[in-house]
Amino acid sequence: MKDSIRLETQLVIAGRDKRYTQGAVNPVIQRASSLVFDSVKEKKFATANRANGELFYGRRGTYTHFAFQKAMSELEGGVGCALYPCGAAAVTNAILAFVESGDHILVTGAAYEPTQDFCTKILSKFNVETTYYDPMIGTGIVDLIRPNTKVVFLESPSSITMEVQDVPGMVKAIRAVNPEIVIMIDNTWAAGVLFKALDFGVDISIQAGTKYTIGHSDGMLGTAVSNARCWDRLRENSYLMGQTLDADTAYNGSRGLRTLGIRLRQHEESSIKIAQWLMNRPEVERVNHPAVAQCPGHEYFQRDFSGSSGLFSFVLKKRLSDEQLAHFLDNFTLFHMAYSWGGFESLILANQPEELNEIRPAGAVDFTGTLVRVHIGLEAVEDLIADLDAGFGRIR
Ligand SMILES: *Cc1c(COP(=O)(O)O)cnc(C)c1O
Repeated sequence: MKDSIRLETQLVIAGRDKRYTQGAVNPVIQRASSLVFDSVKEKKFATANRANGELFYGRRGTYTHFAFQKAMSELEGGVGCALYPCGAAAVTNAILAFVESGDHILVTGAAYEPTQDFCTKILSKFNVETTYYDPMIGTGIVDLIRPNTKVVFLESPSSITMEVQDVPGMVKAIRAVNPEIVIMIDNTWAAGVLFKALDFGVDISIQAGTKYTIGHSDGMLGTAVSNARCWDRLRENSYLMGQTLDADTAYNGSRGLRTLGIRLRQHEESSIKIAQWLMNRPEVERVNHPAVAQCPGHEYFQRDFSGSSGLFSFVLKKRLSDEQLAHFLDNFTLFHMAYSWGGFESLILANQPEELNEIRPAGAVDFTGTLVRVHIGLEAVEDLIADLDAGFGRIR
């Protein structure tokens, strides 16, 4: 039954065990540091099972956390889910769990900038060396593997430029050279469910739950779902690093899942409509939406993903001057300028190509125009198109 039910249904029922809901529809919110034992026997039992879902101490989680962790593990097909106070903590702690001094890791050169900064500024202090690779390297990744390579970090689609990686091809090639290497992916764009990373042989699927899981731009959350091979180490290392999450945010994570299916469907429909509208604009050179053929790696998207979300970018033919760009960005009605994405609202940001190359240690961009990144929210798509149309009027 579990395997045959569809994603939308799974999202509604995941993690709602009676033990966690106490008879309500949603899990209870257990705000706790201390969890009280009634007897020495009970304390012993809790201690022995503290990593297996028994109440032990707040930092190990409560029923609110266990419900959300169980839901995420079910949805992403893992054996466990570690929770973090934000996506960046999920990324850094997942990597940290599998490296030691003298090791080497491979990280996509188009990774989320703070991921790169962690490798460059923190891991380097502990004598862990990072090699960045072109996001479109594919099976050529094997040429970069060294005897001391412990982790390969993927992010697909890439942040900002949206290249889709050949994940199954890369996994197969890496395993053929060294099956011990831990392969992890930042799976935030796919909300962990539109690309089932663990089904493709990835060990750990990481998400900034801040984006689509929370879904309302009102909280921060990180998740890392692991397969059996890596779970114990990921869980214990994260615990030792003091990584934990408050019960209210864990509750909001579960709550976000219930509408994730229908939200993603609308983000997908509207973002594809807008991508197609943009492709017909004379000002636009290329649209980097994984679901359209112009996007690098589109063929992998078609093969491996079950749908798309609402974040993509497009490249203008012109490189706008600073004044033009400010005039363009400052005057939208519905598209707001802000970091993050994945909420119900539309967002817009832009980068000049040289700014992008500064944050791309491998795989320099091949365009000269200004890049615009949009998150397509849940507003009526006609209104969003009118807002963009007025924006193009400002840069004519
Ligand atoms: C936002 C983001 C993160 C970091 O998440 P925070 O919750 O902001 O720390 C990591 N990876 C990607 C791809 C992101 O977009």
